[in-house]
Amino acid sequence: MSKTRTLAAPGWFTDQPQPTLLGARCKACHALFFPPNQSFCRNPECASTEFEEWPLSRNGRLWSYTTNNYAPPAPFVAPSEPFEPFAVAAVELEAEKMVVLGQVPRATKLEALEVGMKMELVVDTLFSDEENEYLIWKWSPVT
Ligand SMILES: [Zn+2]
Repeated sequence: MSKTRTLAAPGWFTDQPQPTLLGARCKACHALFFPPNQSFCRNPECASTEFEEWPLSRNGRLWSYTTNNYAPPAPFVAPSEPFEPFAVAAVELEAEKMVVLGQVPRATKLEALEVGMKMELVVDTLFSDEENEYLIWKWSPVT
């Protein structure tokens, strides 16, 4: 039986028709935010509380990265037992120039990462249980 593909952070990204982060755009001043769960505009000169869903750039440049060598505390669920280190990338989005964090797919070697390289958004497994495969966005080097 195949597992149900389930978004681990619904409303923050989609995998249809292609992997895309969903930001929130202020309807008054057009400021963009990610994650999208905003209750008020963080622009100090704007009093708006209305936002619309706004798809963000799918590409960007690697701004910084690090390796997570220890399992983060709950509610983090380790995708592998025993815990295996994974890389986390901070990517500056091509159009918006916002920096968004994301894991790097496990198949990518840390040595392959280089600040300034082109990265693209992918959707990949975060972890699985008996019925579901939970999906999250990740940053993958453009090859
Ligand atoms: Zn605003």
